Amino acid sequence: MELSGLMQKLKIEYLPDHLDALCEQAAKRELDYRSFLAEALATEWNGRHQKGLESRLKQARLPWIKTLEQFDFSFQPSIDRKVIRELAGGAFVARAENVILLGPPGVGKTHLAIALAVKAAEAGHRVLFLTLEELMTRLKRAQAENRLERQIQQFTYPKVLIIDEIGYLPLNRQEASLFFRLVARRYEKAAMILTSNKGFVDWGEVFSDQVIATAILDRLLHHATTLNIKGESFRLREKRKAGLITQPIEKSEDKGGD
Ligand code: ADP
Ligand code: MG
Repeated sequence: MELSGLMQKLKIEYLPDHLDALCEQAAKRELDYRSFLAEALATEWNGRHQKGLESRLKQARLPWIKTLEQFDFSFQPSIDRKVIRELAGGAFVARAENVILLGPPGVGKTHLAIALAVKAAEAGHRVLFLTLEELMTRLKRAQAENRLERQIQQFTYPKVLIIDEIGYLPLNRQEASLFFRLVARRYEKAAMILTSNKGFVDWGEVFSDQVIATAILDRLLHHATTLNIKGESFRLREKRKAGLITQPIEKSEDKGGD
């Protein structure tokens, strides 16, 4: 059978476009058969991996793409780089553990959540990003349309679910109990990354109910890494550098709890 026909039958998608160049290179470098085969297969594999990654990133609905490499750790010394490196390794995803990023606005919570999500997507995991507000809108709509169960089930599929901005929008009891159902369903099954401008002591207020807040935290924190970021807003620093702010920035109030 002809090579192109074989590649078609084997559903080899990416190699055909690169084959001429690969052969030429292999001849120049006098590659042995095995090395050539490995390079050819690697070309196919890389193409497939890239396509898979792109589709996972699209499904993830990240508001923007940021990476760990783009994070200036020297600006935020309260963050333990070792912990971030460990998280970037993705063991927390495999173990269905949670990551909770606490701190005032602008310290990089969303940036880090996205960067960890990108790592997870690179490792082949399904990822979904939602703000708490979006999550609530979707859960409440599902409830009103009598398909809450199915919606919660759908939110359990991603291996990493990011819920951004807990604390800006206080939830009423009904919303808090919807959030609890989601957390309980994912508990010990799949990882979550949460960000909040409020320390845990204030979560009772955020969820309008101390009992529900405690039940939520109980499950979330059972297997979790909490990063309490205490520092200055990166956004304000940028503005200050640009000369838009001349006053020194007041030290942000430490709202993080343990
Ligand atoms: P938060 O979610 O804590 O309010 P963000 O993650 O949205 O903060 O960060 C605000 C902006 O500043 C984003 O564009 C982010 O990429 C950037 N940023 C924050 N901290 C850092 C940092 N240490 N290094 C590089 N960029 C940062
Ligand atoms: Mg944010």
